[in-house]
Amino acid sequence: MNTSRLVLPFIAAILCGPALADGDGLDAKAVATAEGLRDTAMRGSQAYAIVESLTTEIGPRMAGTEAYDRATAWAQAKFKSLGYDKIWLQPVTFPVWERRAERGRIVSPFPQHLVLTALGGSESTDGELRAQVVEFDSLESLKAAPDGSLAGKIAFVNLKMRRAKDGSGYGPVSNVRRSGASEAARKGAVALLIRSVGTDSDRLAHTGMMRYEDGVAKIPAAALSVPDAELLANMLKRGKPVTVALDIQAGVTGSKTEYNVIGEITGRGKPDEVVVIGGHLDSWDLGTGAIDDGAGVAITMAAGALIGDLKKAPKRTIRVIAFANEEQGLLGGKAYAEAMKDAMGTHQLAAESDFGAGRIYALHAGVSPESKPVIERIAQVLAPLGITWAEGGGPGPDISPSVPYGLPWAELQQDGSDYFDYHHTANDTLDKIEPAALDQQVAAYAALAYLAAETAVDIAPAAPAAQK
Ligand SMILES: [Zn+2]
Repeated sequence: MNTSRLVLPFIAAILCGPALADGDGLDAKAVATAEGLRDTAMRGSQAYAIVESLTTEIGPRMAGTEAYDRATAWAQAKFKSLGYDKIWLQPVTFPVWERRAERGRIVSPFPQHLVLTALGGSESTDGELRAQVVEFDSLESLKAAPDGSLAGKIAFVNLKMRRAKDGSGYGPVSNVRRSGASEAARKGAVALLIRSVGTDSDRLAHTGMMRYEDGVAKIPAAALSVPDAELLANMLKRGKPVTVALDIQAGVTGSKTEYNVIGEITGRGKPDEVVVIGGHLDSWDLGTGAIDDGAGVAITMAAGALIGDLKKAPKRTIRVIAFANEEQGLLGGKAYAEAMKDAMGTHQLAAESDFGAGRIYALHAGVSPESKPVIERIAQVLAPLGITWAEGGGPGPDISPSVPYGLPWAELQQDGSDYFDYHHTANDTLDKIEPAALDQQVAAYAALAYLAAETAVDIAPAAPAAQK
């Protein structure tokens, strides 16, 4: 932890006297500039045009694909055209997972087609796999099945996701997706089917990452669309054996280096200190990655560009990061943390947009008690946008690996009520985005980033950095 972070606000308060408000290190001019950024964005920002460009000119850009390389070039060019003065790449190396084919059907007692998609990381079936299905209502009930009781069978976990504004329904169902295959394999199962992690009733399956535990058989894993999960459950209710055929061709094919794409608006006073905002540039392969996370990239690129358009740059540098490979395990965020762990003291504040395109309604922050007056002042500027400051929340996915090294974070929490209707499906497309909702978010990110970059207070993290 950098001790100057504790002393500086105190010195600044003495030196600058009455020009500063209570401990927030911001004068009236800085606040007026932030309000101006906010109001300019609300009249119309570039965010929608940016996500329209990304989804139209690139589209799906799964980590490891040639499309991600095109997205990298797109992001570099976009930063340039938006007036960022420094653009650089940070390497991220990971195993490449490939989806080749996926088919499923009910063979008996009533033959029907099934809509499904392989989970990220899944291995292949050996040709077509045919097996009887055993249903579970939760991960816990699967874990409670006797050892060997699923020998030669397909485990089917049919857990419904709860709709919630804050996305709190995601945790329990995403645990099934993440660890269900290894739990099923422990009981002898030959494959895993899950009900899609989603709140919709579209006949589209939701993909997403899964993990194999070491020392446990790697069985193929796929998600059924919600209507297909209900169809399969209804068939099982009849008490007769239900046999499903699966043909999944997927797997890891090697490794690749991709890049976090970073654009900066250099600070005028403390250029080596940074305020980080961003989203992730990769997407899943089924949709065009509009809400996950083209929106986040577009909102933060547009917010940084607005600050760059000011006559006078803020004191600190605004760093906008389009992270690589978030979807398969926060790999871009982990690479950033690893590269920056000794420089985390130069990070003033970080916030990531990765929860769709719904409006922001809350501001949360993980900062020291001494830094809270800055957050409070930011909250006052955001209040006309319908945003209130509240305790709680958490850092965005790609900045979370940096938090143990002492990164102070903020969260601009979005309304995610419909996020999981489209998340990781073929329905994650541009038409789900309302341009005015993006403008509200650009307004919030621009004001937050500007004030954090301009304040005389060095924002400190909530907890001291962990031992490296
Ligand atoms: Zn995302």
